[in-house]
Amino acid sequence: MARVMVVGAGGVSRVVTHKLAALEEFDEILLASRTLERCTQIAESISTKSIQTAQLDADNVPETVKLIKAFRPDILVNVALPYQDLSLMDACLEAGVNYLDTANYEPPDNPKFEYRWQWAYQERFFEAGLTAILGCGFDPGVTGIFTAYALKHHFDEIHELDIVDCNAGTHGRAFATNFNPEINIREITQPGRYYEKGEWVTVPPLSIHQPVAYPEIGDRESYLLYHEELESLVKHIPTLKRARFWMTFSENYLMYLRVLETLGLTRIDPIDYEGTPVVPLKLLKKLLPDPSSLAATYTGQTSIGCHLRGIKNGQPQQYYIYNNCDHAKSYQEVGAQAISYTTGVPAALGALMVANGTWQKPGVFNVEQLDPDPFLERLGAMGLPWHEVIGQASPFVEE
Ligand code: NDP
Repeated sequence: MARVMVVGAGGVSRVVTHKLAALEEFDEILLASRTLERCTQIAESISTKSIQTAQLDADNVPETVKLIKAFRPDILVNVALPYQDLSLMDACLEAGVNYLDTANYEPPDNPKFEYRWQWAYQERFFEAGLTAILGCGFDPGVTGIFTAYALKHHFDEIHELDIVDCNAGTHGRAFATNFNPEINIREITQPGRYYEKGEWVTVPPLSIHQPVAYPEIGDRESYLLYHEELESLVKHIPTLKRARFWMTFSENYLMYLRVLETLGLTRIDPIDYEGTPVVPLKLLKKLLPDPSSLAATYTGQTSIGCHLRGIKNGQPQQYYIYNNCDHAKSYQEVGAQAISYTTGVPAALGALMVANGTWQKPGVFNVEQLDPDPFLERLGAMGLPWHEVIGQASPFVEE
């Protein structure tokens, strides 16, 4: 039996905690976050196991070490915000506990979406004999595991990767983000970037787009974005000649985003408001709906997958692997919308893979460096069934 500590009590945490409670391998679960009341709400929504709760400022390393040492988990699952990644990795090292997260570290004043800060922990985790798994949500997360699975079973070499992320759901609000508004808007408003022939190509934000057909959904306009898993996938799959990430947005969403940007409300540098420094994006976060509040009325599906091209046995090979997830079904099961659900399920399953020894090895790893098979064997039963189409033509025509 294993013990797990979850940090953060937002939309993703609700799913992680529900899913961990449903796994018989975990008998003790501690949920700790900045606001104790949000931990209590999640704990009270789970009837199968008693969830312990604690108030914790995860930016405070000594406080976190104290709590970890008192609870003695086998693994800490970080579903707070990317800003907490390094302090939680420091606390895990000091307390001798394995670590897993779903988003890479970001300095608050510089949204770079780079792994270098966390990769720098490789030696310390290795020497401590501890495992740190980075980016084990859906994207990053399952998209890397899908790619590793494709390479293991269907390709000798992968040359082109296009990750496609569609949210075809409707929540009935004029404008809202599907996960933490601050992190989400930082991600979308940065320049687009993709990898081609050994170089990173930068383009203006949302300037490249085309319709992509998604299973059971149909055509949706999809925009090229930089997404953090591209960096690790290009590093770990050196045969890649091109790697891109695409995400759907509605015209309505983009119109609101343009207005907010034009007004300066997406800025992350502080402005002076009557003598008080205010970061406009943090203010905007306070004004926008809490993403978890969208869940009750959300309908429709998400569809996230990977289109891959390369060679197998000397012949050209094309391949598509994906999951579709239904917002309303996610809500019925755990009280969360599909974006939180598709992030929380892989995080809980990744924690199990470490706790039961399957993915336990010293060092810092991105998910594509680990064996995809045991993970994908259980992903469907955990709530995210996946499908593959060997020979599926990519929607991206040769430029
Ligand atoms: P939320 O904003 O809903 O939740 C974040 C939680 O972290 C809140 O409970 C918040 O506390 C808590 N928190 C913030 N700062 C601290 C701190 N210093 N100490 C302790 N707790 C803190 O975010 P989401 O649940 O939507 O997202 C969680 C994570 O998942 C994010 O890192 C996000 O980037 C990532 N993500 C990953 C995806 C993937 O596919 N890989 C997709 C979607 C999200 P409080 O309640 O007090 O605000």
